[in-house]
Amino acid sequence: MSDFRIGYGYDVHKLIEDKTLVLGGVKISEEIGPVAHSDGDVLLHAICDAIFGAAAMGDIGEHFPNTDDRYMDISSIVLLQETLRLVQAHGFSLVNIDATIVLERPKILPHRDEIRESIAKSALLPLEHVSLKATTSEGLGFVGEGRGIVAHAVALLQRTT
Ligand code: MG
Repeated sequence: MSDFRIGYGYDVHKLIEDKTLVLGGVKISEEIGPVAHSDGDVLLHAICDAIFGAAAMGDIGEHFPNTDDRYMDISSIVLLQETLRLVQAHGFSLVNIDATIVLERPKILPHRDEIRESIAKSALLPLEHVSLKATTSEGLGFVGEGRGIVAHAVALLQRTT
């Protein structure tokens, strides 16, 4: 029987004006973006945590501490690729990803497929193995007030060795 493991990841970043918003390695906006040590790619951070979670290998903060200057302003695509290298070294391969972004503005739908393609390419997955949804918070809470962005992700790993 195949050995599958599911993992869940969650991340939140504070948003401020005149910053670049990058999601899944794709530039979305230069008007509003995250306060972050890295590029603040909340989507990739949630995905990395889902992958680490599926392998029971801790979390992104443990593997890539924000106190480490090597990760200052780094593209989170590099973090995703390093995450995959680490779980592969433990005998796992990534099967699929499903994620949801919660954000009031800008709209994600026009960028959705470009983001999926970026993640699929970086993770060496077929496009149909990378799903992305987006929703607003209906004006409620810090996301609704435009002060933050949230991402949730699940990832499925398969034991290969
Ligand atoms: Mg983060």
